[in-house]
Amino acid sequence: MPRGRIPFQFSIPSPARYGLRKASIPASILAMAVASYTSSVTKVADFGPVPDDASTKPHHITKNGSVVGFQNPYPSYQQVTPSIMFNRIVWPMVMGKLKWPDTMPPTVDVLKPEFLPSRNASDKLRATWLGHACFYVEFPSGLRVLFDPVFEDRCSPFSFLGPKRYTQRPCDFAALPHVDAVVISHSHYDHLSYPSVLEIQKHHPNAHFFVGLGLESWFKKGGLHNVTELDWWDDTQLSLTLDKNIDSANARNPESITATISCLPCQHTSGRTLFDRDSTLWCSWAVTSGGKSVWFGGDTGYRAVVHEGMDPDSPEFRALPTCPQFTQIGELRGPFDLGLIPIGAYYPRTAMSGMHADPYDSVDIFSDTRCSHALGMHWGTWVLTMEEVLEPPRLLQDAMKRKGLPATGIFDVCKIGESKEY
Ligand SMILES: [Zn+2]
Repeated sequence: MPRGRIPFQFSIPSPARYGLRKASIPASILAMAVASYTSSVTKVADFGPVPDDASTKPHHITKNGSVVGFQNPYPSYQQVTPSIMFNRIVWPMVMGKLKWPDTMPPTVDVLKPEFLPSRNASDKLRATWLGHACFYVEFPSGLRVLFDPVFEDRCSPFSFLGPKRYTQRPCDFAALPHVDAVVISHSHYDHLSYPSVLEIQKHHPNAHFFVGLGLESWFKKGGLHNVTELDWWDDTQLSLTLDKNIDSANARNPESITATISCLPCQHTSGRTLFDRDSTLWCSWAVTSGGKSVWFGGDTGYRAVVHEGMDPDSPEFRALPTCPQFTQIGELRGPFDLGLIPIGAYYPRTAMSGMHADPYDSVDIFSDTRCSHALGMHWGTWVLTMEEVLEPPRLLQDAMKRKGLPATGIFDVCKIGESKEY
């Protein structure tokens, strides 16, 4: 099926609005901030195994031979329609049957993060949670990857309206010692922020952005040209070569760093305006470097439930169709040393389950993808849905026990700003 241009490109605000026009960054700052590595990105055809049903691109919506949008190809997805939103969220709230979650402190602890002193300081994989779906991952090869960075107070098109953080961001971008790759799961505001990606470019001008189909032109229009867009099951090789002219005295930096970055499926949706729904692709990602591998789940559902309060152990629940793509990812691209897996923004289930996993789904996703360890994300930062803000980690432990797995030590949560090693 031919791949064409995405006709629905949403507008982005002027960079000048944020005082970050490219021309406004003094050359001296750019020169100081330039990482001492030259990076190259190569798409690798036929790199990894692909499931049989992927070749027909069932997630592409085409018109006259061009891709005009994307869809979830399995019955495990249910779209949230305006009537579902009204009947299951708005009306119950009006009637007092659904309450806005209480975010009064204490909720989730926030620590000032500490990062490794140099690129080769550890032979472990090290992940630091920076809130919601943002992780900073230090690979033993020296590679540094930032996933879904959003550092604003609100995840919204507006600075004065929309969900506001109830836990503080643990640091600024200037605190991150290196950023080689930035991996974006999809276009929703809690995962992709224009001011944040501009800030990253300012502090880390060599950082390369990896995005799903349809988002490359959004970055380029915004003045960010180090960007590669990929379709599900596409693979790239990222190579970093030390620039010895700049860094000749620093023996602590490895001479070269390589990584495989793969775009993989998930079950979700996308959009930044009322007019661009599902016009860009939502993705999960695998990053492998220095013998360690991470699977980043992004934002995903797993099964669409039919009524509230279903017992996860009931035959009725277990008979619901589940998204087969996670088993495909595990069998064809796993195992992974670490899964970064969403566990929040799931209630009411009859409205949210198609696109947001609850912890019972998250543990199934963890098993399907063959991650040996996992950290829960997509909670503890913004109120996006109606579950109690501290419920996701409680249900996660219950879900692990019900699956016959240890409640802690395998699939955990951490404090915002905390680092875990694997
Ligand atoms: Zn989303």
